[in-house]
Amino acid sequence: MVELDEHERTMAFAEVALGQIRSLRQAAIPRNYEIWYVYATGYNSAFNKVINETLARNGKLTESDLEQIYENYLSPIRTTERIDKLGGRVITEIDDVMQLITDALGMTAGFGDSLKGAAEKLGIAHDRDQVKAVITALIKSTNEIQEANKALENRLELSKIEINNLQHSLEAIRTESMTDPLTGLGNRKYFDRAVADAVTLALNEAGSLSLLMFDIDHFKSFNDNYGHLTGDQVLRLVAMSLKQTIKGQDITARYGGEEFAVVLPNTRIHQAVTVADHIRRAVMAKELKKKSTGEILGRVTISVGVSMLRRGDTTDSLIERADTCLYAAKRNGRNRVVCEADSECSFCADIQVQVA
Ligand code: GH3
Ligand code: MG
Ligand code: MG
Repeated sequence: MVELDEHERTMAFAEVALGQIRSLRQAAIPRNYEIWYVYATGYNSAFNKVINETLARNGKLTESDLEQIYENYLSPIRTTERIDKLGGRVITEIDDVMQLITDALGMTAGFGDSLKGAAEKLGIAHDRDQVKAVITALIKSTNEIQEANKALENRLELSKIEINNLQHSLEAIRTESMTDPLTGLGNRKYFDRAVADAVTLALNEAGSLSLLMFDIDHFKSFNDNYGHLTGDQVLRLVAMSLKQTIKGQDITARYGGEEFAVVLPNTRIHQAVTVADHIRRAVMAKELKKKSTGEILGRVTISVGVSMLRRGDTTDSLIERADTCLYAAKRNGRNRVVCEADSECSFCADIQVQVA
């Protein structure tokens, strides 16, 4: 079932991509297909904007436009390639700095030798001219080491800038690899790490922690009625409602297709239910309108399951209970919040002791 949905969803993008290649009479090569596929998803608004502007200006995309757009927007997207490139830069920088250190060590040793030589010569000097010659030689080697030191400082300053840039690039790649491109929320990988860390912290410090899992109601029929591209816009809108409601230390993520998760550290279950209800109302409050046609698409609702960490819990058991509550919310009519302290939940007797 999931595979079939994925098939339909991606076929919609594929058809838009092929349609563009056909109508612009471009070569149907993988690069052009990728350009139009990404364009069809609308994931990258800067990318779509540059294509729209070029088309509006010239009525077409030339081979060099395509090449440039691909180079600027898509080829750097490949995280592994970027990591490889960055790895290369880190290695070069380390080599350079190692060479600098070796040079600096050699330079100081050379200066040490010339000081030693000068001391020896001074010891046996017996006229004014010999002393003068030693001092002249000393001044020369002092000037040389001063110049070399200056060059070293400049080179180290450049290294500092490069290392700083490398840090920023690494951070950007790390963030990107943890972000869901459609909604801009954390992705599943981010969630798995963040929830595990938050659970460990709460268990170690005997703090409270609640988890919300929510899922869009009847989203399949929304997709079937209005198409997957519109469905994607709705996912963005739900994510936006979530971002507007959730702030601070709380962790938000797209857990899967149309399912989202929120971790609320230092939050007990009743507060968590209030937060869940805010999100539910925020989503429901938005009337959906298709921008291109002005068509009113109605509203979407969400069902939410809420669990709270107990002693002896693991991340999995916490998620499982939120999921059970989510399904109870679906069974009980959707567009509602169910927490494990509610009577709809089979394990409510257990939790009430904890909540009290
Ligand atoms: P329920 O109220 O029980 O949750 O019903 P539902 O229709 O939402 O549930 P179901 O699990 O049957 O369908 C989920 C749908 O979500 C199916 C799939 O097409 C859609 N979906 C999942 N990921 C995406 C996505 O990235 N984009 C779009 N447009 N749809 C998605
Ligand atoms: Mg659903
Ligand atoms: Mg679902």
